[in-house]
Amino acid sequence: MNELKKFGPVSFIQGDKGGRYPFCNSLFIEEAGILIDPASNGEVLKKLKDKVNQVWLSHWHEDHIMYLNLFEHCPLLMHKLDEPPISDIDTFIRWYGIDERNEKELVEGWKQLLAGQFNYTPRRAHRHLKEGELIRMDGLTIEVLHVPGHSPGTLAFYFHEPRILFLGDYDLTPFGPWYGDRYSDIDQIIASTLRLKRIPAKIWLTGHEHGYFEENPGDKWDAYLAVIENREEKLLEFLNEPRTLQEIGKAWIVYGKPKEPVVEYEYIEQISMKKHADRLLKRGLIRTEGNRYLRL
Ligand SMILES: [Zn+2]
Repeated sequence: MNELKKFGPVSFIQGDKGGRYPFCNSLFIEEAGILIDPASNGEVLKKLKDKVNQVWLSHWHEDHIMYLNLFEHCPLLMHKLDEPPISDIDTFIRWYGIDERNEKELVEGWKQLLAGQFNYTPRRAHRHLKEGELIRMDGLTIEVLHVPGHSPGTLAFYFHEPRILFLGDYDLTPFGPWYGDRYSDIDQIIASTLRLKRIPAKIWLTGHEHGYFEENPGDKWDAYLAVIENREEKLLEFLNEPRTLQEIGKAWIVYGKPKEPVVEYEYIEQISMKKHADRLLKRGLIRTEGNRYLRL
């Protein structure tokens, strides 16, 4: 199958749209029949169906589960902390903070989107993957790494013998880290990215876009984390005048320009920027004045 790019025992399947949202890149370990993040390409995954024995998730986001419904017969393995939104659609909505907005139509719209485009069907994990766990097979050992931040239960995988590291959504893209939902955490993202950087891999695979590096990503590690600092500086600058979170959301500091659907993305901007504002408050660089934030 030429849709698969092979790195020794690990096959890489690039997602539709160049691996961009709403798709992700998948991995397939043929020897064990393990499929990781089934949201790359429906046609390719359908062809693989009979060879898949179990499905693993790097984390709970919808762009990593789109074709999970093809594998209802397979055990699902993931980190315990990310299971709640996978097993219950209301929890899924809550983890995006959508319930907080008290807009019934929005919740219904999201549910329809999840059930329709993303084929959401609640699933329970057959078993939980844990930090440090080693899965051994003939000539291949997979190490499970719990790297929270992008989500509470985000996992990365290190394939020992071929020294291949799957980074999941710590994808080293110029866009930078994403933390636009309720439980993503900037400090944890930084710690997890630095941990992944230290692993002596030879090949690096990622959850989005081009998706593989056959040489050390080098400057891309620091550039990825620098995006966080960059956004924070822009926010600080914007707070030279007092601003509400709604006003901050309209500054498009994360996405750079308005993105459709605007109400959704403005809200993601607000959630992301609230996390930056909390960091700046803690460092004593800004203060609040009623419902506004202001630089000191
Ligand atoms: Zn994600």
